[in-house]
Amino acid sequence: MDLEALKQALIAERERLGREVADLDADLSSSLEDSSEESPYDQHLAETAAVTLDREIDLTLEENAKARIAQIDRALAKMAKGGYGACDKCGQPIGEDRLKAAPFATLCIECKRREERGR
Ligand SMILES: [Zn+2]
Repeated sequence: MDLEALKQALIAERERLGREVADLDADLSSSLEDSSEESPYDQHLAETAAVTLDREIDLTLEENAKARIAQIDRALAKMAKGGYGACDKCGQPIGEDRLKAAPFATLCIECKRREERGR
């Protein structure tokens, strides 16, 4: 397995996500400013609802991006101190195919599925 290539892919993805979070932060703070500048009397309800929905989508995207960054950091830490490619839960190899498709994976497919089912 070409660890160096996976590491570069992780770092590039982390940078991309970092920019995404920064953009979303900028969007979120500007939409807050917009809504606070509006007078409550001539506020259009539909517009307000659209802004609220936009904010919710941005927040979800931001949360997802931050969760992914945390996952990438975890994978990079495992690369640095060894143990990359082993499942966090059961210690079994995660598998080269899975790591190629998802280099940030820290769980094997079975543990991941179990986690998604909520136990
Ligand atoms: Zn596992």
